Amino acid sequence: MKEIKKIIECKSVVEKLRKKGYKIGFVPTMGSLHDGHLNLIRMAGRECDCVIMSIFLNPTQFGPGEDLGKYPRNFRKDCIKAKNEGVDYMFHPGVEEMYPPGHRTWVEVGGLSSIMCGRFRPGHFKGVATVVLKLLDIINPDNAYFGEKDYQQMVIVRRMVKDLNLGVKIISCPTVREEDGLAMSSRNKYLSKEERKEAVILYRCLNMADSMIVEGEKNLKKIKDKLKGELKDNKFVKKVDYFDFRDPLTLEKKNRVRSGDKEVLAAAAAWIGNTRLIDNVIIKL
Ligand code: AMP
Repeated sequence: MKEIKKIIECKSVVEKLRKKGYKIGFVPTMGSLHDGHLNLIRMAGRECDCVIMSIFLNPTQFGPGEDLGKYPRNFRKDCIKAKNEGVDYMFHPGVEEMYPPGHRTWVEVGGLSSIMCGRFRPGHFKGVATVVLKLLDIINPDNAYFGEKDYQQMVIVRRMVKDLNLGVKIISCPTVREEDGLAMSSRNKYLSKEERKEAVILYRCLNMADSMIVEGEKNLKKIKDKLKGELKDNKFVKKVDYFDFRDPLTLEKKNRVRSGDKEVLAAAAAWIGNTRLIDNVIIKL
């Protein structure tokens, strides 16, 4: 696996791969790799001739007072994991390489960026969309792999790719979970032992929503109130940012299950102690 730090070098490597006719798969991450990330690499490896991963802890998607300073960094360990999974190139630019002095251009995906997580993390998805567009331009992949764990991010990236007529295919990959069901996340490292044990409550509540809908409850507002209450009753849950039902394609809010609906997205964000966790499930009707 070759490590690349400079944009110019990355572009020249990509140009050579393109001349050889290789199909390029791209996996963007912020590092601290776990099985969720490794699964994206495996999918890319199955579908492409060459896998490029990026590890870039993107400062512009963190708000003031968020966890940029303490976000886990394990670049050397990450490289070993990535190499073992068959990553061919690791793009690892510095902050100044991606945001040189004077940088002023931003990408905003209107509407989708200010709901759900965007309501509680203003500017977050502007940072995400901007860095993803920059990375897609540098790497120019055929396919780019994103996890359903960050469902809203995946929908926003798809919208941006469509709106800007980018030639990349966005592939979404299922959420990889710990044995008890907790969605894998670099942020799980922040949890104390007790918090870690209780953190699965988020997934449990999403599954309860699934059962209630499958059993015929159509009033989503009622389910939401019940499950928000369930979360709030847990002494490890400090705050529930949202528990929402949405259209899986447009993220439009849903208050009722209507005849003809095929799928509903249930998504939630909650604070377990000082750690903000997100999770979601797609409920099949
Ligand atoms: P991150 O490093 O957290 O920015 O995540 C990089 C990519 O990995 C994103 O596309 C995430 O959605 C994806 N990802 C993170 N955690 C998981 C997981 N548990 N299952 C599947 N994909 C994940």
